[in-house]
Amino acid sequence: MVDRIATPLAELTTLRLGGPANRLVEVHDEAALLAEVTGCDERGEPVLVLGGGSNVVIPDDGFDGTVVLIRIDGIRVDDDGCGGVTATVAPGEDWDAFVVRAIDEGCRGVECLSGIPGLVGAVPMQNVGAYGQEVADCIASVRTYDRSQRRQVTYAAGDCGFGYRTSRFKQEPDRHLILGVTFQFALGDRSAPIGYAELARRLDATIGSQLPSIEVRQAVLELRRGKGMVLDPADHDTWSAGSFFTNPILDPVEADRLPADAPRWPVDDGRVKTSAAWLIERAGYHRGYGDGTIRLSSKHTLALTNRGDGTAVELLALAREIRHGVAAKFGVQLDNEPVLVGGLEL
Ligand SMILES: Cc1cc2nc3c(=O)[nH]c(=O)nc-3n(C[C@H](O)[C@H](O)[C@H](O)COP(=O)(O)OP(=O)(O)OC[C@H]3O[C@@H](n4cnc5c(N)ncnc54)[C@H](O)[C@@H]3O)c2cc1C
Repeated sequence: MVDRIATPLAELTTLRLGGPANRLVEVHDEAALLAEVTGCDERGEPVLVLGGGSNVVIPDDGFDGTVVLIRIDGIRVDDDGCGGVTATVAPGEDWDAFVVRAIDEGCRGVECLSGIPGLVGAVPMQNVGAYGQEVADCIASVRTYDRSQRRQVTYAAGDCGFGYRTSRFKQEPDRHLILGVTFQFALGDRSAPIGYAELARRLDATIGSQLPSIEVRQAVLELRRGKGMVLDPADHDTWSAGSFFTNPILDPVEADRLPADAPRWPVDDGRVKTSAAWLIERAGYHRGYGDGTIRLSSKHTLALTNRGDGTAVELLALAREIRHGVAAKFGVQLDNEPVLVGGLEL
């Protein structure tokens, strides 16, 4: 029998939600990570791998298994032989610190992903993206341990199943342990071409222009702070998992049924992406909506926040209310972006 550790997982998540785990271990090297996870798999014991805890909702009664905290660091930079560099990064490195280093060393392509919380091992999971960039654009390969085949597998970027906030790693929960991510960067102190209108306006630039990466980072951080999207212990609007819903991708017939002024962005496969924030607002859920400690952020309609002693039950109740309201008004189903742990469902 294993004793429950007193530390509530809430202390390890940005939503500050979640009860204790049966067992909580921190791993500092790959051998320890593999030993923990394979040991649990052999015993048939559930495992939750946790990085920065910024994209999970954990039940109030905790996790009935072992939680493994990834604290493995290390970055190796190599010449890529084509005038650029590759960086092979351990899963426990802090993502934003890595972005800062990439910019300092003249690597372009992740500057718009500044300020996203969490660790490097999680960025391929949902192909993190913001302000016109997706991490998939800079990933060369992802090295994994496949828990169902019990062997290491390295996926080239094209085999990772990357899409909008998804990947093969997210699609097959509990199968792939991410052991390392190799990025490939073009060099230069100017950013990749700006592809996001709000960011271009902030920089007083045009779409497609390339500016000093450090200026782009600053502009992204300012925009993000204005929306409560940079972690700040003093700002309850940041006590969230980021955007709670993804932007729905609709077939053209569904998209035609939306009001004329609904945002519509074409997707490569002929479908149309619309704005979850727009749908939520138009369905009557304004910023700050909610009557308890669980509320919509007062700065951003897409973030569900825990402003004190809320519970996961209350958070999911609010998420369901919004989801039903949007479905009733627009016939569009919203999907959650964070991972719902331990059997939680919307
Ligand atoms: C304020 C705020 C702003 C945010 N803004 C953005 C944004 O702009 N864009 C965006 O895409 N996301 C955003 N997010 C979501 C989140 O920060 C990212 O998804 C981040 O990559 C999660 O990293 P993490 O280390 O915290 O992952 P965790 O929350 O610890 O884990 C997330 C999932 O990945 C799994 N996982 C973690 N590490 C590994 C590993 N090594 N191997 C296998 N599985 C693993 C976990 O089991 C879990 O299922 C935001 C979140 C917050 C709180």
